Amino acid sequence: MAKYIFVTGGVTSSLGKGIIAASLAKLLQSRGLKVTIQKFDPYINVDPGTLNPYEHGECYVTDDGAETDLDLGHYERFLNIPTSQANNVTTGRIYQTVINKEREGEYLGKTVQVIPHITDEIKRRMLLLGENGKYDIVITELGGTVGDIESLPFVEAVRQLQWEMPEEDCMVVHLTLIPYLKAAKELKTKPTQHSVRLLSQEGVHPNVIVCRTEHALSDELKRKIALFCNVKPNAVIEAMDAGTIYEVPMKMLQEGLDLIVLKKLRINGYSAPELSKWRGFLDKLNHPKSRVTIGLIGKYIELQDAYKSILEAFIHAGAINECKVQVVNIHSEFINDDNVQEKLKDLDGLLVAPGFGSRGIEGKIIAVKYARENNLPFFGICLGMQMAVIEFARNVLGWKDANSTEMNTATPYPVIALMEEQKKIKKKGGTMRLGAYPCSIEQGSLANKIYQSTEISERHRHRWEFNNNFIKDFTNAGLQPSGKNPATGLVEIVELTGHPFFIGVQYHPELKSTVENPHPVFVHFVQAAKKFAEAKAEAKAGKLEKHTV
Ligand code: GLN
Repeated sequence: MAKYIFVTGGVTSSLGKGIIAASLAKLLQSRGLKVTIQKFDPYINVDPGTLNPYEHGECYVTDDGAETDLDLGHYERFLNIPTSQANNVTTGRIYQTVINKEREGEYLGKTVQVIPHITDEIKRRMLLLGENGKYDIVITELGGTVGDIESLPFVEAVRQLQWEMPEEDCMVVHLTLIPYLKAAKELKTKPTQHSVRLLSQEGVHPNVIVCRTEHALSDELKRKIALFCNVKPNAVIEAMDAGTIYEVPMKMLQEGLDLIVLKKLRINGYSAPELSKWRGFLDKLNHPKSRVTIGLIGKYIELQDAYKSILEAFIHAGAINECKVQVVNIHSEFINDDNVQEKLKDLDGLLVAPGFGSRGIEGKIIAVKYARENNLPFFGICLGMQMAVIEFARNVLGWKDANSTEMNTATPYPVIALMEEQKKIKKKGGTMRLGAYPCSIEQGSLANKIYQSTEISERHRHRWEFNNNFIKDFTNAGLQPSGKNPATGLVEIVELTGHPFFIGVQYHPELKSTVENPHPVFVHFVQAAKKFAEAKAEAKAGKLEKHTV
């Protein structure tokens, strides 16, 4: 039987519960324990797949095709193990299950109620991952903030589990904020006291309080929080703002969060933390030897969370290359033929981001053209790959009105078309081509060099595809389909011959990049950008020399 840790949040949202949960998991994993993390979200959508990125940030996709909260991305990046549908549960999914059961007559004769039926279903799902012997510890992050109406059934489920389980099998970590009042030059504990009281009123008392703070907490302040919140002083953990999320496990190690947890759960026989790979990564991250500027062309760039996994994948790929990757966000809606040179001229690489719908796509196409014509390293992801295909059709093959039928159903050249299996689908939730699919890579291609393999598996989230009716025209003109699904022939990778680095992928490689396994396409893209930057610097130095002579 696994042991369970619940992570709740108080005072405000966005305190970084996901990062604290992932950091704690990392430390426990580094001591030889098998750990997984799951997220329970209190909203009514069955999953975040139908949410706009402005609402919810990126939608993270697992191997088994679940559309999930972006915190699962952090769990995978930290722990280096895959998550699944079972790792993300929403109120919508809970109610859907209970209502389906009610219709099937499973509760025949009974009034179906929040307690016990909804809370029973929450508890069943909270325990699920711990039941097959695969994990020693299951960490559950509760989305939302304590006191929210919608999170009440989840807190109630935790209360019941704590009551049902032996004391050493279950514990609660509460993350709160200690605000600093500039005028008074003081850190304030009252909001934390209130949020712990609120949690206690709901029947759950935290065992550990993690305090997010901009300034160090004195021992006196920690004692005060401990006294008022009824925990031991060593169970008050300082979580100072960190330069990068990847420093947080180290900070939690210094604070002894893992040891308190191990003691409370009465786990013996753990080893000393083995974090050499993690430390090696941090060392490289903090001491870059070069620098590149990558343009991220997207339409949701106002919100950093919309491209979370892409940004994190650049951090991993930058570190392994000992290179600081500066990502510049460029709004695709405002790129046109007249300003493209000005906007892109300082870049060392161009990434065209995934997306849906027609807003901003012409700007993406213009940006791809610039990269193709100027030998600028190019990397297109999903919609970004589709834009590269359209750009090539329009400007190399001369098919002026070529398009995706997502944007123009009447185009004479539907070079990107709706997948056959998508044509009959009417419902929007969970109906895209989702999750891991195999891809066979052409020997000798750029993709082959990048992956060092001809058989790979990558995660997908799309409805449209490269239209194989035009495959010959593209191949003859130099845009090669270098990766295909072995069963269906769907094109998964395109690359441009004669260009130093030009690759578009129909899948989402960013979802599989972790600290310990930076994704090879990102790693090679950063390398190509480094080369481009070096060549630019050499050319500039040459020019200067000429000038002085
Ligand atoms: N809108 C495109 C499609 O559905 C691309 C999706 C994406 O970029 N994730 O095929």
